[in-house]
Amino acid sequence: MSISFNIKKKDINSKKKCILCKSQNLKKISEIFYKNSFIFFSTSLCKKCGFVFRDKHPSNNWFKKQYNLRSKFQFNKNLGINKSYEKFRLERYKKLLEFLEKKINFKSVIDIGCATGIGLKIFEKKNYNTLGIDTDKTRINYGKKNNLNLIHSDIFKFSKKNKFDLILCLHTLEHFTDPNRAIKKITKFMKSNSYIYIEVPDFKNLVRTWDDSVYLAHISNFSEKNLIYFLKQNNLKPLYRTYPQTENGEVNLGILCKKHTYSKIFQDFKIPHIKSYKLIGNKNKLNIPYKINLDLINDISFSFKVKGNKGNSLDTNFKRKLIFNKLNNKYEISKDVVYFRIIKYKKII
Ligand SMILES: [Zn+2]
Repeated sequence: MSISFNIKKKDINSKKKCILCKSQNLKKISEIFYKNSFIFFSTSLCKKCGFVFRDKHPSNNWFKKQYNLRSKFQFNKNLGINKSYEKFRLERYKKLLEFLEKKINFKSVIDIGCATGIGLKIFEKKNYNTLGIDTDKTRINYGKKNNLNLIHSDIFKFSKKNKFDLILCLHTLEHFTDPNRAIKKITKFMKSNSYIYIEVPDFKNLVRTWDDSVYLAHISNFSEKNLIYFLKQNNLKPLYRTYPQTENGEVNLGILCKKHTYSKIFQDFKIPHIKSYKLIGNKNKLNIPYKINLDLINDISFSFKVKGNKGNSLDTNFKRKLIFNKLNNKYEISKDVVYFRIIKYKKII
């Protein structure tokens, strides 16, 4: 038996303004239909600040219900953890700690959106006080079995009064339906001299392909300039930029910050060319806004995952392709996979 996620019109949230700069001058990039009936996921570009985000997406409530459904399914089937990915997670945190120890002093660390929390093992070994928090029950339970100090909770419900010297927020910020509300809550765990390290996928890797337009878990596509603007808006001063690489070869965007109050923020925006949207494995360019139909949502992150592909990470995304369906004038995700070259791991600068 496989899992599928149903969605109704009432489960959809819409945004009329840019999440970052509040401009209403938006350009639609893609529209994803559910069973050719209604749009449940759409992506827009802000023509003022260049931010790319989902202006239509399933609500938090819908996500919560589907995560619970998935946890139950995974519990019954003993699924959900990819051991080789966990090894890689450990490697990534090892590199991160090397970088952090060179730059800052800290004793306590909280990892927000820690998944299995396995990355915190590296910090524990060196006697840092660690805590991880995540909404994914399957992964939290796995981490707890590995004797890690983890909490299964939503950050908005997490009212721990403790403050931490360092906050880690890796590949989490882009998932929040309201990143401003999220960062306001996250920075409450900081003291005046605490640090925060934020890592997100780099706009450059994702936005030029269609994949992120159907990747349900991502709400925001930050570029370096967008992220710096967002951080400053939230009284965080960027200190260092890192270029961490994930297992599929993608170079991500990492920024270490400390608290700072800005009286004025200089806006240095770059508007990306949406003409650069391409189809992987196909030379044809997509007509903007491009429309994709999904008859089945079988994965809470990828929206549709090709069967038989064991990959649990973004490389799964890059192995799919789109085929134009003349019957409904929309693209559909092909069940075939295409070859994607894996690039080797590189050290954090
Ligand atoms: Zn904007």
